[in-house]
Amino acid sequence: MAATVAAIALKRSGVSPAVEANEARQWFKGNTHTHSLWSDGNDFPEMIVSWYQERGYDFLALSDHNVLSRGDRWMPVAAVEKRRKVEGTGTMEKYREAFGDPWVETRGDPGQQEVRLKTLAEIRPRFEAAGDFLLIEAEEITDRFRNHQVHINAINLDEVIPPQGGDSVVETMRNNLRKVKEQSERLDRPILTHVNHPNFHWSISPQDLAEVVEEQFFEVYNGHPGINHLGDAERPGDETIWDIANTLRLLTHKAPPLFGVATDDSHYYHGGNVSPGRGWVMVRAEKLEADALITAMERGDFYASSGVVLEDVAYDRTTRTHQLRIQPADGVTYETRFVGTRISSPEDPGAVLATISGTNASYQLTSDDLYVRAVVTSSRAHPNPSYKDQREQAWTQPVGWRE
Ligand SMILES: [Zn+2]
Ligand SMILES: [Zn+2]
Repeated sequence: MAATVAAIALKRSGVSPAVEANEARQWFKGNTHTHSLWSDGNDFPEMIVSWYQERGYDFLALSDHNVLSRGDRWMPVAAVEKRRKVEGTGTMEKYREAFGDPWVETRGDPGQQEVRLKTLAEIRPRFEAAGDFLLIEAEEITDRFRNHQVHINAINLDEVIPPQGGDSVVETMRNNLRKVKEQSERLDRPILTHVNHPNFHWSISPQDLAEVVEEQFFEVYNGHPGINHLGDAERPGDETIWDIANTLRLLTHKAPPLFGVATDDSHYYHGGNVSPGRGWVMVRAEKLEADALITAMERGDFYASSGVVLEDVAYDRTTRTHQLRIQPADGVTYETRFVGTRISSPEDPGAVLATISGTNASYQLTSDDLYVRAVVTSSRAHPNPSYKDQREQAWTQPVGWRE
């Protein structure tokens, strides 16, 4: 009810309701793509949650392949240790040290020992605190059409969704999304989906992403080093894919553009190159609850980041101006590129419409601009890069496309 109180106070002081709405909202940092021992990650879910919580994340979705962390699951200790892949302190030893012997459940004779993986329901009380930290149940629906990997994260679901298959990439996406929608409606809960790493095995084309207009989100950055984020000489990178798909959506399919998320897709937590902390979303929501976060993201009130922090992002519909303010860091410079497609040249999707240096940047759309989005690039190298020469960045959502 804090929002109502704020609204009344602000109305009395003469501030418009539009301003009030943003005043009542806060930024929440979260990662929606994480793997654990429940599928092919190499640490216990509670170790992973600790990692994120200690680093100031507000929410986290553990999203294992085709499984929810529910039920009775035992895993050989030897298999847990083998997953680590690097020398050093054992996974079990670190686990015992962090959570204590009474928490760790094992069975079987030495040499044949198994450890029980805790469920999400069991670990929630150790981490969650209202308004402070939130775990959202999730699954990476991991499907394929021939050699095309079709992976879609479903966030805030309540029942596992097995991969649905299909006779094309588009149909495979559609069949899985239909299943998510069916669950969302039946259980009356919002479930957010995002299509993952389209360039993983060069699986999903911009045309596929454009055509599946029932999907609203995709990963514009994923921290896994094997997902071909930058594309190659013949094939576009994730950012260009975004602009091609959005141009097709707006001009051909008469559908809203995709919004872009950044995620970790972390698998390894003991060293190695598929590690956590590379990409996340900042969501401006009324409160730290799954419903509010999903509502805010559907509204487009969030940005993707691999290190750059924005103090504010805005779009003024009356003046058609997109603006942002970057949180400065000592000795770091920033370049903001405003990227969009000109209606007069749809064959050039994702053109750079303006480039601005500094911590404040704005762009006023012309009547020829189909949409605009901003990408901020820092002079600072990414502290844990997923590709060579990576800099810290932030990506805002496309604006200016609504009537
Ligand atoms: Zn995946
Ligand atoms: Zn994944």
